[in-house]
Amino acid sequence: MQLLILEIPLDSDYLVSYDKAMSPLPVPPAWAGPLPEATPPPVMVIYQLPTGTYETRAAFAVRGGSFRDKRLFAATAILVQHPKGDLLIDAGFGSDVAAHVAELPRIARAPYQATKTVSEQLDASGYDRSRLLGVLVTHSHWDHVSGLDGLQVPIWMNSGERHYAAEDPDGKVFRAVSAGHEVREYDFSGPPYLGFPSSFDVYGDGSMVVAPAGGHTTGSVVVFVTVPSGKRYAFIGDLTWQLDGIHRRVERPLLLRKLADSDPEQVRQGLLRVIALADLMQIVPAHDRDAYDGIPGLPARLVPAPAPGAAEQPR
Ligand SMILES: [Zn+2]
Ligand SMILES: [Zn+2]
Repeated sequence: MQLLILEIPLDSDYLVSYDKAMSPLPVPPAWAGPLPEATPPPVMVIYQLPTGTYETRAAFAVRGGSFRDKRLFAATAILVQHPKGDLLIDAGFGSDVAAHVAELPRIARAPYQATKTVSEQLDASGYDRSRLLGVLVTHSHWDHVSGLDGLQVPIWMNSGERHYAAEDPDGKVFRAVSAGHEVREYDFSGPPYLGFPSSFDVYGDGSMVVAPAGGHTTGSVVVFVTVPSGKRYAFIGDLTWQLDGIHRRVERPLLLRKLADSDPEQVRQGLLRVIALADLMQIVPAHDRDAYDGIPGLPARLVPAPAPGAAEQPR
């Protein structure tokens, strides 16, 4: 989520009514191709690390949402534990979240509640930081990168997002928190993946595959994860903010598409691609708290895993 600039009163009839009249996106054909091969190692596991929430009116979140209905947006990171080394997907709120919110345009400063940062949660469970290869960001907006302030590890991102983050006004918080971090740039040299044009297979075993889904920001991505049980997840960042976007096939309200997305038409394409996969995997819009259901939280005490071997670094 980023940038809620509104010069129209919140109770404006114009805003309330114009979107309700609009219909959902057409139903895309369900993905009929084979599921890409994935051979996650038996010890691979993922955890969710909620770091807080912020408040948004439903009308801003999805088309047709009510102005009275307030929604709490999740700021949650995912830890992927893999024998070749671990990665976080996004970083949640950091210890400097108050300063990060203060950096936003005044009108975009939503009330928020921060709980424990990713850094604090990892320490509390006795996590061995030497296992952490970096934070792979779905995109560089403040609510996904704030927690980098407590994680001195490389930031994994593609060149499109690097440029966006370096130049866009909405990259301000990223530019502050990423100072001093190594950026590990990856590219999409892999084949098409589940309807997306190309891919990056992080571990080389299909267990974590990143696909370009730009439009919200230039280099936004979807991160596909397959765990040993065979269950699949798609962490879709801000392609849509809430599960309604998937289940009701609704986009962000028009005004918000124009303000929050760098290329709304591209976002629509990405959203339709993900909707086509909804029966095959758990789709996780970054800010929907219910979307994380079933993903375990960090255990009070993590079982020490063997250190990643030097010969087994991910690609
Ligand atoms: Zn966001
Ligand atoms: Zn965003």
